[in-house]
Amino acid sequence: MEKKTVIITGAGSGIGKAIALKFADANYNVVVSDVDEEGGRQVVDQISQQSADAIFIKADVSDRQACKELVKKTVDKYGALHCAVNNAGIGGEMNLTADYSAESYLEVIDINQHGVLYGCQAQIPAIINSGGGAIVNMSSILGSVGTAQSVAYVMAKHAVVGLTQTAAIEYGKQGVRVNAVGPGYIKTPLLDQLDEEQKEQLIAAHPIGRLGEPEEVAALVFWLCSDQASFVNGSYYTVDGGYTAQ
Ligand code: NAP
Repeated sequence: MEKKTVIITGAGSGIGKAIALKFADANYNVVVSDVDEEGGRQVVDQISQQSADAIFIKADVSDRQACKELVKKTVDKYGALHCAVNNAGIGGEMNLTADYSAESYLEVIDINQHGVLYGCQAQIPAIINSGGGAIVNMSSILGSVGTAQSVAYVMAKHAVVGLTQTAAIEYGKQGVRVNAVGPGYIKTPLLDQLDEEQKEQLIAAHPIGRLGEPEEVAALVFWLCSDQASFVNGSYYTVDGGYTAQ
């Protein structure tokens, strides 16, 4: 059977790293991409120690040209692209809507929203040329509900759901399934900006009584990319310990 190739953005840390390790376990060629070169290379080393195949390609997802080059370098190396996970993202400033700075707003939209669009634009033609496959876009529970002090993040994560639905409608017949994932609060460096009291409040907001683990998101992402999910297209799946059920 042909070995499959996957690109994961923001794979040098947190959820992206767990996703990269999950695909490596399943013997994919794994393209670990990130702006954090050190983190990305460590993930590649970890995968290589498990005798799986991985390379690091540095790319800033907010740069449209860099997203195109990421796909081109991947296809040059492995000959095809079957799956992509547009995971890179930042939290941004925490501030009330009326006080939110233009600078942080633009940075969050550029990375969390435009970055997913640029990723899809580069990946879709390559996946079609490779005979079809799947894309998973990283949204959040904040892709379907709001929260205080994160207007740019909430706007970007809602946009990711709309982008996912649109691309799924456009490319389903050409064999490209596009889905979005909505994690609750997951234990990663992204939450480092919160103090202990804020973390306790977040735990209390999840009916399951704890925060999530990156591996619990990776399991859903991997399933959505697999043939087990062959009829799943244009969906937004939460993995949130019941947060959005309330
Ligand atoms: P993380 O641990 O901070 O990892 C994100 C990675 O993306 C970091 O290595 C980061 O590099 C990289 N990155 C940042 N800007 C980038 C850019 N412009 N281009 C390429 N890579 C970039 O965060 P995480 O918690 O795993 O989050 C991953 C995704 O899940 C994000 O989209 C996030 O919004 C989403 N999510 C997270 C949670 C959560 O609770 N953790 C919940 C819902 C959704 P630097 O460290 O150098 O910036």
